[in-house]
Amino acid sequence: MTTPGIDEDRLARLLERERAAWIEGRPKAAALHERARASQVHGTPHHWVRQFPPPVPLVVERAEGVRLHDTDGHVYADFGLAATAALWGHTHPAVVEALRDQLGRGTITMWPGEDHVWVTEELSRRFGLPYWQFAVSGTDANRFALVLARVATGREKILVFNRAYHGALEPTYVVLTADGVAPEPGVDMGGIDVRRTTEVVEFNDVPALERALAGGDIAAVLAEPVMTNGGAVIRPEPGFHAALRSLTREAGTLLLFDETQTIPAGPGGCVRELGLEPDLIAMGKFVAAGIPAGVYGMSEEVAAVAARYTEHGDGGLGSTLAGGALAVRAMRTVLGEVMTDKAYAHMNRLAERYAGDVAAVIERHGLPWHVGRLGARVSYAFMPEPPRNAGSLYPKPGGSLRAALWLFLANRGIVLNGMSGAALFSPLSEEADVVRHGELFAEVIAELAAV
Ligand code: PMP
Repeated sequence: MTTPGIDEDRLARLLERERAAWIEGRPKAAALHERARASQVHGTPHHWVRQFPPPVPLVVERAEGVRLHDTDGHVYADFGLAATAALWGHTHPAVVEALRDQLGRGTITMWPGEDHVWVTEELSRRFGLPYWQFAVSGTDANRFALVLARVATGREKILVFNRAYHGALEPTYVVLTADGVAPEPGVDMGGIDVRRTTEVVEFNDVPALERALAGGDIAAVLAEPVMTNGGAVIRPEPGFHAALRSLTREAGTLLLFDETQTIPAGPGGCVRELGLEPDLIAMGKFVAAGIPAGVYGMSEEVAAVAARYTEHGDGGLGSTLAGGALAVRAMRTVLGEVMTDKAYAHMNRLAERYAGDVAAVIERHGLPWHVGRLGARVSYAFMPEPPRNAGSLYPKPGGSLRAALWLFLANRGIVLNGMSGAALFSPLSEEADVVRHGELFAEVIAELAAV
């Protein structure tokens, strides 16, 4: 698919040139990738890496501060930050010190410590829900929150917004088509009937939401409060959240917000920024500074259901590894020392500068694109207006443009998110890298713009 404003011939030439330069500069990475093919599917540790733009994966020798050092001796300023898992930087001094100390005190025991209580108290204070439990990832946190919603309502079906991503959860691999709900293109559902498990509507579509909830068979709406997946920031229209809350209440459906990607909005997430009142909140990645972990919070009513559900039997929530001492110490450090108003002020300032640089280049070339920013997260979409919903991002223009931009920047020491091209800003992010990005973005667009 072509990209508005871009000269396709120049784009094809640039992409070829940057791919060749990437491979040529990375003989050790190429050799390692070849070696990995014998013991890893696709020669990558997980399939996302294969879907990222570089023809040979970026092989990281070490990550320090906001720098990635690769095995061939290149150094990059990391704006991808592991899709929020490394939102606080790779080696935040407070986290490193705390984890070094904790390693000498044990990583996991299956017993609680004072850190657990401190963390759940602080989560309640920040996010407003009174009860919290631990999980091993964002995926897990969403899964357990959905289990509780099903138990609380006695209903199986969930509702998600079109083209949302909430982790490795089969009932969410769905899209809205002219014929209704269907498996996400390219995903083999392995026999799961998504029409039974899931309802899908477009974000910001209140009438469709009302129709979908009217049947009284939806256990929970699982949603990002502001949609971030798909390389755009999609904001709720005025009144949308109020309607979502009142419609779910009327239908006896629980409202579950996934803050995994929206936490760059502020130290209490979008829930606090937008004054939202969900029944459940789930999040992962950032909460333990990259130590695998997730948390989910719930209202008094849901907590009572959880207490009943877990009274007897093995239908457990969580896993043996949930709430290990190392992960929880990381959470205490993140919440207590890292995720501060001061840190967010720095992150926001850099994000604003970055977004301004991109917007200026778009304007200079009259490109029909726009820049979206949610606090310390910035992404741009190849369409003139901010999208109302994620469905309007598909079919996606600019697949090869995203790859070309990623490679051009990475060949010059800047790494964006490999999937969406989004940039994140950490307390350790540096202004000089943002300035450098602005210069490089201007250079690459001058080469590619049709006018
Ligand atoms: N929620 C959202 C919004 C996500 O983007 C992701 C993953 N990127 C998850 C949940 C799941 O997190 P994880 O992959 O760490 O389980």
